[in-house]
Amino acid sequence: MEKIRLGISACLLGENVRYDGGNTHDRFLTDTLGKYVEYIPVCPEVGCGLPVPREAMHLEGIPASPRLMTIHTRQDMTERMLNWARRKSVELEKDDLCGFIFKSNSPSSGMERVKVYNEKGMPVKKGVGMFARAFMEHFPLLPVEDEGRLHDPVLRENFIERIFTLKRWREIMRKKETRANLVDFHTQHKLLILSHSPGHYRLMGGLVAKANAFTIKELYNRYRIILMEALQLKATPKKNANVLMHMMGYFKKELTSDEKRELLEVIDNYRLGYTPLTVPVTLINHYIRKYNQPYLKEQIYLNPHPLELQLRNHV
Ligand code: SF4
Repeated sequence: MEKIRLGISACLLGENVRYDGGNTHDRFLTDTLGKYVEYIPVCPEVGCGLPVPREAMHLEGIPASPRLMTIHTRQDMTERMLNWARRKSVELEKDDLCGFIFKSNSPSSGMERVKVYNEKGMPVKKGVGMFARAFMEHFPLLPVEDEGRLHDPVLRENFIERIFTLKRWREIMRKKETRANLVDFHTQHKLLILSHSPGHYRLMGGLVAKANAFTIKELYNRYRIILMEALQLKATPKKNANVLMHMMGYFKKELTSDEKRELLEVIDNYRLGYTPLTVPVTLINHYIRKYNQPYLKEQIYLNPHPLELQLRNHV
């Protein structure tokens, strides 16, 4: 697989573009995830023509449509930033991004809970950075996260699973668009989709079953939208346990009663939060090899991202 292309706030890569001339280098993003990702760095404040160093800014006014103001000299940067952010979002279409990692708490780049100051100078954490808002409005279905949220193992695993899935989707889009290619993709991703949303899983199954009722373009477009919506919903221990039980159903006849008991226990321990997801998944992988289960062997759910990232050791 080619590297996954992600947009990123430039200061997270260690670029000295912050207002004070510094950076907020995030080692996990560069040294670990960076092995699989080609980053497209974006610094909205430098991009819209401001120097380094520069006066610090913050958001003021109504959280839904705040102004971007410099703190000491009270210059209003709103129009300058908004115009640039809209142009930049259009320009980024050509990069075929699979997602974006924003710098948290920034009035330009923060994706949520950014401070917005009211007329009395009191902050509420309800704002969105100006560029982040324009980007997310332009690409509503793209996976986005900030580096702070990515310290949470569940959010990290979900985000990385989504960008790898989107990358695989982009790869099938590069092949000839045929119903057979779409059915192959769907078959391999069934259990992964089920782990995010049983409702979307049924919807997509229905769409694929009626594939002939749509033109190819319509079919791919509908499928892409439902896939992205499904992946926006988090895979929880309860949903994962449901998938694991579903998989166990494929071995019903082969498993000895001891093996069945052991697997049920391991799934239950995971559901209750005593062990990470990697424990039941490893055991199921063992039975897939032992009993040669061809359908399960193909399931991306069992290996959605590189093992070296160790993402399932913590969820
Ligand atoms: S948070 Fe955004 S605007 Fe601020 S330095 Fe980083 S990339 Fe630039």
